[in-house]
Amino acid sequence: MTTTERPSRFDPPASPVAEPFWEATKERRLLVQWCLDCDKAVFYPREICPGCFGANLEWREASGKGTLYTFTVNHLSPSPTGIDGPFAVALVELAEGARMMTNVVGVPVDDLTVGMALQVTWDELPDGRHYPMFEPAGGSS
Ligand SMILES: [Zn+2]
Repeated sequence: MTTTERPSRFDPPASPVAEPFWEATKERRLLVQWCLDCDKAVFYPREICPGCFGANLEWREASGKGTLYTFTVNHLSPSPTGIDGPFAVALVELAEGARMMTNVVGVPVDDLTVGMALQVTWDELPDGRHYPMFEPAGGSS
């Protein structure tokens, strides 16, 4: 199957503040911002910390580990993700503390449980970037 035969994920637009995040995904590295004023992770990328309104943010590489904070299952198919069948839209709490809206893959949606341990995995985008998704920690089958 060629990539033209399936629906593909659209190219996520990158705002100027999010450029470092997307550049790092070309090397499959997950970056989050870190607020130096209140010492907390910030995601999604922005100019000002949502916790303390400080502007002293720096980029740090995240561990790629997290837990499933909450999720919903979308039964519409085919999805723009290229995932066949029902797929999970999830809020993943990163080990660093910030939460990321993403997909959980590599596990049947019926086996998803809040609090389960996850690790980042990457979906290649047409322009060389990668979209961060999550799978059960320890790898998928
Ligand atoms: Zn802050």
